[in-house]
Amino acid sequence: MSVTSDVGVIGAGIIGLSTAYHLAEQGLSVTIYEAGVPGRGQSAGQSRIFRHAHDDPRLIRLAVRARERWRAWSDEFGTQLVSEDGAVALGPSVPRRLALLRDTGVAAEELDPAAVRELLPVLAGYEGAAMLDPGGGSIHTRAAIDVLAERFADRTVTEQVITVHRTGAGAAVRTPTTLGEHGTVVICAGRGTPALVRGLGLSLPVRLGAHVRVSFGLREPIDRLPTLQDGSGVFGATGIYAAAYPDRSGYGLGLSDSVDAHDDGAIYDGQRLAESADAAVAYVSTALPGLDPTPTGIVHCWVTSLPWGDDGVAIWQLGPVVALAGHNLFKHAPVIGEALAETVVSGHVAQDFAAEDWLGRTD
Ligand SMILES: Cc1cc2nc3c(=O)[nH]c(=O)nc-3n(C[C@H](O)[C@H](O)[C@H](O)COP(=O)(O)OP(=O)(O)OC[C@H]3O[C@@H](n4cnc5c(N)ncnc54)[C@H](O)[C@@H]3O)c2cc1C
Repeated sequence: MSVTSDVGVIGAGIIGLSTAYHLAEQGLSVTIYEAGVPGRGQSAGQSRIFRHAHDDPRLIRLAVRARERWRAWSDEFGTQLVSEDGAVALGPSVPRRLALLRDTGVAAEELDPAAVRELLPVLAGYEGAAMLDPGGGSIHTRAAIDVLAERFADRTVTEQVITVHRTGAGAAVRTPTTLGEHGTVVICAGRGTPALVRGLGLSLPVRLGAHVRVSFGLREPIDRLPTLQDGSGVFGATGIYAAAYPDRSGYGLGLSDSVDAHDDGAIYDGQRLAESADAAVAYVSTALPGLDPTPTGIVHCWVTSLPWGDDGVAIWQLGPVVALAGHNLFKHAPVIGEALAETVVSGHVAQDFAAEDWLGRTD
């Protein structure tokens, strides 16, 4: 089989789907290539945190635009894609994060212990530094993937891309049974991106790791369930994050560290994934008495991070091929897709997204 279109997009995770959306908005014809089920790679699971707080003010500004876009998509697709429940953060980084948010014009509130109790009655007593990002919330990941994937269902080739190469007129994509010819090819294949780009002669500085998050149900129904990031250490582990299920029946919760993997996906220490899941259970037992500590589900995911920070993201352009890599991308997906589409249309990497810009750097 052969297909032709203006742009081939490799990967139907949230980034590829958002990119396809923005390209189609600009009147370009798009073909998506997806090896598996859309949204079952790094985008898997029921929820993600939407937060404005980042160490790099450029990411805060992008989050403001992304939040507007999530609201617009919710209206356009007729389904809520991010909850309005807010994002709570605990720990010593709160004063710095509050200052950064305020400097960027984002409303955020410092919380006293009584306010924390009221907002998060599932949490055990907590007296330390805390803040609320009222514009934050839980992203309804499945709904987001489903509405976007549905829009491109008739333009999706469900096969693994084996190679991308330049042609006189643009770039060609080869899968087991399809040859695609496109003016431009965008590679946003998550874990698969470095290998496809390496075939074009460029080695991306992506660190591969594996991550686990565990789901827990609430003991009692609740009307509001903000996301939680806990860097306080008060309850033992630090670097905890939790996002609510769309119906607020539970939290998907994990530790933000990941287990190193070799470039080819070999994991040096698989046992650490089990330990990380156990640590999530231990945290819930101590810190979240409003949750049943018996896990109701588990998600294992690859993590692809860049050396300059956990929220680092960049776009590379190699003639008619554009590629993206980074981590913690879900919340920014609407504006990252826009940046990739802009890169395709203008022929230049969108502002701040070149690798040398270190977007998402942690100082
Ligand atoms: C446990 C966990 C928690 C997270 N929490 C948050 C959070 O709270 N907030 C946040 O914003 N982000 C969070 N993230 C990060 C976020 O989920 C990811 O950055 C984002 O989903 C990446 O989307 P993607 O489209 O780039 O990649 P993916 O979703 O992995 O999509 C890539 C797609 O490409 C396909 N593919 C790969 N190779 C090929 C090939 N050769 N041919 C065809 N198809 C191919 C794959 O099948 C896959 O579907 C979290 C990530 C994890 C793992």
